[in-house]
Amino acid sequence: MPEYPLLIIGGGQSGLATARAANRRGLRPLLLDAAEDAGGSWPHYYDSLALFSPARFSALPGRALGGDGDRYPRRDEIVDYLRDYATHLDADIRHGHRVTRIQAEHGAFTAITDDGGSFAARAVVAATGGFSRPYRPVLPGLADFTGTVLHTADYRRPCPFAGQRVVIVGAGNSAVQIATELADTARVTLASRSPIAWANARPLGRDIHWWFVRTGLDSAPLRKIWLKGPVLVNDDGRHRAAFATGNPDRRAMFTRLEDGKVEWSDGTRESIDTLILATGYRPALDYLHGTGALDDGGAPLHTGGVSTTVPGLGYVGLEFQRSFSSATLRGAGRDAAHVIRHLRAGRTWR
Ligand code: FAD
Repeated sequence: MPEYPLLIIGGGQSGLATARAANRRGLRPLLLDAAEDAGGSWPHYYDSLALFSPARFSALPGRALGGDGDRYPRRDEIVDYLRDYATHLDADIRHGHRVTRIQAEHGAFTAITDDGGSFAARAVVAATGGFSRPYRPVLPGLADFTGTVLHTADYRRPCPFAGQRVVIVGAGNSAVQIATELADTARVTLASRSPIAWANARPLGRDIHWWFVRTGLDSAPLRKIWLKGPVLVNDDGRHRAAFATGNPDRRAMFTRLEDGKVEWSDGTRESIDTLILATGYRPALDYLHGTGALDDGGAPLHTGGVSTTVPGLGYVGLEFQRSFSSATLRGAGRDAAHVIRHLRAGRTWR
């Protein structure tokens, strides 16, 4: 069995940025991706999705998004961009191979895939995102709720919800965007523990990402205190205007679900048709179980994307991995370069 210098698991933006960082260090990696085509999870995001970051702050290293840098690209443009990006890399990219298990022994790795494949590598970068592991909180009464329950990972477009009473759990960007879109055809309430934390998308006439980069906030090492604050919802005024109409509205988190009803904190009960969980994702790293790389909850043990327990293992694409911009298009390249640099220091790559 040939031994690859580097195996990258996952071919979304994080995996592709890692392949480019490896190329720049003279390595030709093997990249395995479960999907049949490039683009990572972007083809599965909802139809109306437009980036929250303008084109000039939404590219991977070495290849700009064409056109006006101030525009906000749509989902399908990013899919095309990533597919094109993949074709310009010096990497052995293989689609349709899901890694189900990693064996880590004596500083070397073997990846086992769902089609019976086996691949040996001297180092591994896990870049498998979280979209295949949506977080579904335990809510009182949820197990017996008779209405429809879905996660935002399953949401595509408003038409199936026309005329419905919909409650969305969460107060982040996806919750707010989907609530605003659905309110054109449905009666929508956003239920959350904290109020929506609005952030002005264009302070002093400049996109907020310009300020993030200009002030150094974008790449500054994270401090724990930042993680404790609420998720900021980027808004150019359209979402706040929509909430000001009363549909959608935001209410304090309900106390329980029962049959097809939701019980609000003031004790009133109301029938609803659909509950949408906009409750985020967790890193999809099941294939690392048994290696000692994960804690009891399945979260990776790492510093800045470099495993603290398994030498030769790294991660790219974890939320807040190193900075505020980790797990975004503009941050993936920076984290990938850092991880490759550190893995290289501990490996003899040939
Ligand atoms: P993914 O895109 O999820 O790719 C992971 C890849 O790994 C997939 O191709 C999958 O097939 C593969 N994979 C998974 N498991 C395995 C396995 N076991 N074996 C082999 N392959 C596997 N970021 C921005 O910068 N700007 C935005 O405007 C923006 N909007 C977003 C909107 C939504 C709704 C969401 C959910 C995220 C958004 N993000 C945005 C955040 C981030 O950029 C995306 O989530 C991005 O898709 C993450 O890229 P990734 O490569 O880390 O993971």
